Amino acid sequence: MKQNNVRLFLLGGAVLLLLFALLLPSVGPAPALLGDTVSPSAALHLSAALVHGEAAQLRLHGIQPGVTFTLSGSDAEHVYHIRFRNSPFANGGLCLYQLPAAVYAVYADGRRIDASLLNDSLPQGYTLPRDGLRKHWQFRTDRHGLLELVIRDTEHLPAGYFDVAIDAGHGGGDLGAEAGGEQEAQLNLENSLLLKSYLEAYGLRVFLTREDAALPGGMAAEENPYLPNARIDLIYRSHASYLISNHLNAGNGQQAGFQIYSSVASDLRFATAVADALLAAGAVANDSGSGLVASGLYQRHSEEPGGYGRDYYFILRETGGAALSPTLYLYHNPQMADAIQRGPEALLMEYAFLDNAADRNAWLQQRETLLQATAAGAAAYWQL
Ligand SMILES: [Zn+2]
Repeated sequence: MKQNNVRLFLLGGAVLLLLFALLLPSVGPAPALLGDTVSPSAALHLSAALVHGEAAQLRLHGIQPGVTFTLSGSDAEHVYHIRFRNSPFANGGLCLYQLPAAVYAVYADGRRIDASLLNDSLPQGYTLPRDGLRKHWQFRTDRHGLLELVIRDTEHLPAGYFDVAIDAGHGGGDLGAEAGGEQEAQLNLENSLLLKSYLEAYGLRVFLTREDAALPGGMAAEENPYLPNARIDLIYRSHASYLISNHLNAGNGQQAGFQIYSSVASDLRFATAVADALLAAGAVANDSGSGLVASGLYQRHSEEPGGYGRDYYFILRETGGAALSPTLYLYHNPQMADAIQRGPEALLMEYAFLDNAADRNAWLQQRETLLQATAAGAAAYWQL
């Protein structure tokens, strides 16, 4: 071998070694014990793919937060590598509606994720329509059991699928607050019908938990809202990405203004957008309730033993999908374990105090403006 060739040979070897080192994953599998067999995919197993609103998070067995996920896919013109991390907030993580249509292989710190041992089936659904176009998103496994995410553009939303659920609070024998000859349950229904029409003007398909005075799920649901066909079950079956639960407040007769409750697991972006729109339309924020986190904005933790980190109000705690651990709903509806891998991001709205005549009358006079503002604030958060 000539000296030049030797140099080339050594240089080539060094380049190969460097390439090999670069290709090594940054987090290696644990060293195998004698007699163990470790296949390349065995160390990264999906424990859950959870979607809350239009945000997705992936959970891996035995891997702590901080892992970087990468989606790799392509269409006819582009190759996409999209990186994301899980978020401490249920409404953070991967924003599904921002993804270009493609079939994406999913990597965690550079390695494919095995989803073949998952107990629950992988979620799929639709984003809201933006400029008339929705994304159908679907987590699935390839023929080797490895995780993929498929994003497809579509104008079509199947029958039985909705973008937003509006919950008219109370109903049936549960009238809610009563004052000045008004009943909260009836006003919640009127407000919900108005809000539905304002949201539909944005091209959204809107589901109502009730369209008359009856309680969703009938009288049995008054005792137990977690039963099949009651309020929570209807919301899951609507496939809605977002939920707005409409209420009016009661206090000591002196309080005034709106309160907006978000899940304790979410950040406050959705609530803030709606509060900003209400304030701009002339509403006032009420800062007197339990769980106040910012003016007019509330997050209230469960007060049950060990309940901190979960929501106090069942309409937030039980409807948001597995990201919020809806244990009572799941106990009564075990057949929905697959369906609740996704759930809506919710706000619980207390628009005004019914037992304060001045606040009640101000609300009744301005409610069309203020419900339009609610819809506009939500649409701003949704980037419609
Ligand atoms: Zn109420």
